[in-house]
Amino acid sequence: MPTNLPSGRDLPRFAGVSTFFRFPRWEDVPDEHRPLDWALYGVPYDGGTTYRPGARFGPRAIREQSQYLKPYHLELDVNIAERLSMADAGDAPVRPYSAAENHGAVAGWAENLPGAGHTRLFAIGGDHSLAASNIRATWERLGRPAGGLPVLHLDAHLDTVDEVWGERHGHASPFIRAIEGGWIDPARMLSIGIRGPLNTPADLAFGREHGIAMVTMADLDAGRAFEAIDVWRSAVGETPVYVTIDIDCIDPAFAPGTGTPMCGGMTSREVMNLLRGLRGIRIAGADLVEVLPDRDPADVTALLAAHLVMEVLALDAVGRIG
Ligand code: MN
Ligand code: MN
Repeated sequence: MPTNLPSGRDLPRFAGVSTFFRFPRWEDVPDEHRPLDWALYGVPYDGGTTYRPGARFGPRAIREQSQYLKPYHLELDVNIAERLSMADAGDAPVRPYSAAENHGAVAGWAENLPGAGHTRLFAIGGDHSLAASNIRATWERLGRPAGGLPVLHLDAHLDTVDEVWGERHGHASPFIRAIEGGWIDPARMLSIGIRGPLNTPADLAFGREHGIAMVTMADLDAGRAFEAIDVWRSAVGETPVYVTIDIDCIDPAFAPGTGTPMCGGMTSREVMNLLRGLRGIRIAGADLVEVLPDRDPADVTALLAAHLVMEVLALDAVGRIG
């Protein structure tokens, strides 16, 4: 049953307490609406950051910027509020001083949210280290699917560094941890938006050795993305995919509010069209990470982040219609 969403006529979009997309707070959802399709939750944590911190304020900024988003997706012809039941489950209990402890605390909390097997997890960050936690929780809630989850990964970076300064749970490492844990299947992982400069070409070695399909910005520019996406979709088939979006996949001209910005990225429109082109995929869980409000003039990055969360939810909603 879809969740009640207040009309902007009854409760103006500039009024009330900010929840993600104005969906109800988790604790306010009546029992007859459960189990929900999605729990959206914040992870106000940036202790895994290797460069500029501040993404701990991302969830609040994205909640605020999501107030103006309306539920009907014009291009996919689907109303997310009519198709999906959702709530804002608040923020995960973070451990600001310890990346390893934070990983376990967020994963354990998310794993134990009611509705396992039905209610999917959408984590909103926060730095990209939270992906390891949300993926692990998603995998556990699905009954530990053998071989791990397929992944769609949008990012400037591969995030498969084993450790940084002795820390194995930072934002450069979520996918190496998820592969080690068996939570994701690297042979069905597609990383789009990758670009340099890198420290060394060896930065790509782990991903290549484990079969991660990479679409660099140069591949996108040369029109080589479609083939890679088709190959990945054939490999994935009907299996639900984990979607992880690092806002730095987008050019800093459109998404300046992020901690490790890289020039030469996609435009907002390119990413939205790319996601819309994936109509038909099934979604197991998702995250949107690395929004840094203190570097975000006019909240443009947080607004874009809210739009991209909506794009993923609309993809899920339209996937149910076929
Ligand atoms: Mn990145
Ligand atoms: Mn990342």
